[in-house]
Amino acid sequence: MRNVVIIGSGCAGNTAAIYTARANLKPLVISGHEVGGQLSLTTEVENFPGFPEGINGPSLVENMKLQAEKFGADFMHGAVIDTDLSQRPFRLNVEGEWIETRTLIVASGASARWLGLESEFKLIGHGVSSCATCDGFFYRGKKIMVIGGGDSAMEAANFLSRFGSEVTLVHRRDEFRASKIMLDRARHNPKIKFLTNTVVEEVYDVSKKLVTGVRLRNTKEDRVWDQEVDGYFVAIGHIPNTKVFKGQIETDSDGYILSKGGARTNIAGVFHAGDVEDRIYRQAITAAGAGCKAAIEVERFLEAEGH
Ligand code: NAP
Repeated sequence: MRNVVIIGSGCAGNTAAIYTARANLKPLVISGHEVGGQLSLTTEVENFPGFPEGINGPSLVENMKLQAEKFGADFMHGAVIDTDLSQRPFRLNVEGEWIETRTLIVASGASARWLGLESEFKLIGHGVSSCATCDGFFYRGKKIMVIGGGDSAMEAANFLSRFGSEVTLVHRRDEFRASKIMLDRARHNPKIKFLTNTVVEEVYDVSKKLVTGVRLRNTKEDRVWDQEVDGYFVAIGHIPNTKVFKGQIETDSDGYILSKGGARTNIAGVFHAGDVEDRIYRQAITAAGAGCKAAIEVERFLEAEGH
């Protein structure tokens, strides 16, 4: 039986691991499918305090893991496929193996959202990607398209402009959620072309198992046309990873955990940390802070129970 299991190995999960390990609780971190969380999908992180020159995202999260291991945290590869939080100890099924724990920190984050076109789905990994930093390298000298109007889309477009011959940014409105600085950077990038009030209707060519182009529609002019594309990157936000807790941990209608104050959920002994609850700030530093809060709550909860 574990004192504490942490689901998720991003900034929130790793920080919770550092704190609970230093409290001698011997935490177990279950890394999930997206090991390292969103930071493992980024390049340079310039806004994490303490790194005036910036730090590479995967290095930052790996350093956190090493720090947690140094204090005795265990890490396990795999994803939680089922849970029973109806009584304590809580039970978690990690790809077939059941684990019992007195407390649980849910730091499972949020995964990339897709447009939902069948052709898009069928071409994932064949020219369709949600991770510019992972796949950008494959599109050197090629035509790239980025979908979205937030900071993620601007960041992806700027990053991909290092590789592609041209980058077309497609956004469904003509106003942007992106911060001014990120939007301006993309606008001033000579390789990036903006298509606003435009939606993707189809990704070609499923029969060739390769992205060759897209069908676009300008929603203001109701104009439809095909455009050649080699790499198609979706950057339209994220979906919280709470499916395995459905009907147990309370969430809002989008699936984000509803906080009951501090890091508490509706279940005593189950705590939240990071993007799985946070739809507003979603920064590495806020996720790390949330991981710290959850760890302190776990420590106090177990102490109150005499563990
Ligand atoms: P976001 O801010 O929620 O933006 C999502 C974008 O995708 C919006 O432009 C939205 O369009 C569009 N979209 C959503 N569903 C769509 C659909 N079905 N079809 C077409 N377009 C769709 O998400 P994000 O860009 O991932 O950013 C999330 C958070 O992380 C933000 O707080 C952001 O500031 C932060 N972030 C920061 C950095 C950085 O500072 N380096 C980098 C990345 C992200 P509408 O506007 O029309 O809804």
